[in-house]
Formats: sequence, C-alpha cells, structure tokens
Amino acid sequence: MGVPVIGCDCAVCSSTDPRNHRMRTSALLQAGAETILIDAGPDFRAQALVAHLRSIDAVLLTHSHFDHVAGLDDLRPLCYNGCVPIYGSTRTLADVRERFAYAFNETSAGSTRPNLDLRPVDAPFAIGGTPIHPFDIEHGTWTITGYRIGGLGYVTDASAIPRESWDLLGGLDVLVLNALRYEPHPTHYTVDQAIEIVAALRPRRAFFVHMTHAIDHATASAQLPPGVAFAYDGLEITIGA
Ligand SMILES: [Zn+2]
Ligand SMILES: [Zn+2]
Ligand SMILES: [Zn+2]
Repeated sequence: MGVPVIGCDCAVCSSTDPRNHRMRTSALLQAGAETILIDAGPDFRAQALVAHLRSIDAVLLTHSHFDHVAGLDDLRPLCYNGCVPIYGSTRTLADVRERFAYAFNETSAGSTRPNLDLRPVDAPFAIGGTPIHPFDIEHGTWTITGYRIGGLGYVTDASAIPRESWDLLGGLDVLVLNALRYEPHPTHYTVDQAIEIVAALRPRRAFFVHMTHAIDHATASAQLPPGVAFAYDGLEITIGA
C-alpha cells in the first residue's frame, strides 16, 4: 500500500523519519553498461524522477500484482527510441498484456502508448553482458519469479522458496528479501521468517524490502542480526560478484 497508508495516523505513518516513507518496492540496477529495472509499480514515475532516470535497457518483473506492474505506462518517455524489453514469467506477461491491452492494440491513432516488448523467461538469459537467472518462488498459491544476477539474489513477495530455487541462492553478496511485518501473513514472509531465510542462505549482506507501516525503521533495525538491514527509499549499494 505504500507508507504512509491512506487515512492512517499511526506513529510510523506520521513519522518524520524519511526511512518510514515507503514507495512501492522496486530496484534499479546498473550492471556494466546496462540499466535494469526490477518491477515498475504505481510509484515508478516518482521514483524515476528522484533517481534522474534517463534510459532503461530492460525491465524484470517478479509478478503481476498492481504494486509491481502498474507503473508500466509511465515507461512511455523511455520508449521514444524504441521498445523496452519486459521480462517475466509467461503468466505475468499474459496479465500485463491483458491489463495494458491498449499498449498492444491500436485504439486511438496518434496517442502515445508504452512500447513494451514482452519476453517470457523460464531459463537463464542475458541482458547485454549480464547473465540473469530467473527462478520460481511461492507467493501464497502463486508461483512468481525471483532473479539471481551475479552476486545479487532478488526475492520479493515470497512466502516460500522451493528447494530447486534454493540452490541458486548460495554464495550471495547481497540478498534482497521481503519482510512484510511481524504478524503472520498468508502470502508474505514475516520479519522473523525472513531472518530465518537469511540465517540458512548466509549471504554476506541482506536487505529487507516490502515492509508495511508495522515496521518503524529505527526501532526495528536495532533488533536485526548483524549483516541484515531494512532497506529504505533511495538506498544505494554496490554489489560484489
Ligand atoms: Zn499507519
Ligand atoms: Zn504480490
Ligand atoms: Zn507486492
């Protein structure tokens, strides 16, 4: 929902700590010459302006929930020189085609449309010189997509990681992992579950994302194990191989 939550007066939603102001979860990767966006949620336009984004070589989608795809229309200014490749599972891209039907069908001549080149992936591929390994993760009863890119493992909206995907998450420099809140949730890891995953996978560093207003950044951070941190909007990190 983003933080502050509409209509909420709780301490986190009213906080003046900028780390308690959360746009929808997304990441921008600079990998060599390539600029790769992971998910384009409804806050994409605002995030792109803050990041002074000028071009994108590819978008990796984890799944088709609104908070991860509903900013795709705002790719229009980045499509002037051609299409933007959009990678995701067959199901995710089928949902994108349905939701953004006007981008694929001529509806009103002369109006700009996002020029999206949908590329289903179920095996390793490369963007420029960067190898990308997609893998399955469970989001409640859905199978969605995580990505291994060099020393980075990116997992959001997970409630379980299948055994076959586990092997792709060894030896990480950085694990990005969702940690929704403290209370159990049917389709997202809690903070405690996320800490257990980190302890088992043993990345060098882990950053938690996709937190609700149940998480006050300062007090919750003080309770995390070494090497684990809650991410925040605008956080920049350098990832080793
Ligand atoms: Zn609140
Ligand atoms: Zn989701
Ligand atoms: Zn989500």
